[in-house]
Amino acid sequence: MAHSHDMPTDLTRNQELVLGTLTASSGPLSAYDILDRLRTEGLRAPLQVYRALEKLVDRGLAHRLESLNAFVACADAHCHRKGLIAFAICEGCGKVDEFADAVIESRLGAWAHAEGFKVERTTMEIRGRCAQCLKAA
Ligand SMILES: [Zn+2]
Ligand SMILES: [Zn+2]
Repeated sequence: MAHSHDMPTDLTRNQELVLGTLTASSGPLSAYDILDRLRTEGLRAPLQVYRALEKLVDRGLAHRLESLNAFVACADAHCHRKGLIAFAICEGCGKVDEFADAVIESRLGAWAHAEGFKVERTTMEIRGRCAQCLKAA
């Protein structure tokens, strides 16, 4: 799960609120989940949340999980900006583990180089069951 790291000091209030909500959550959140949790903070419009999310994703502080259409706080914002990001998504409890794998990254890099393909970003989403859910089954 996401370990906490210092929050950057140059975020807008909305970005800070959204990132804080993601960091505090035990699982991925949709933009509407985030909006729901921030209503008491005065956020009303989905656009406010979307704008904040866009910036956070741009900066690598949060990631979008395409298959869930949901967002997570980056587990380690200082370790990667552009490289491969992999997520193991548990279909039992909804837990998401973020990791980076240098071997996969270099394999994909070699493939892209051989094909002349320019990689902008790589996100892997692995679906399955986490160790805890398997143990409980
Ligand atoms: Zn990350
Ligand atoms: Zn699980």
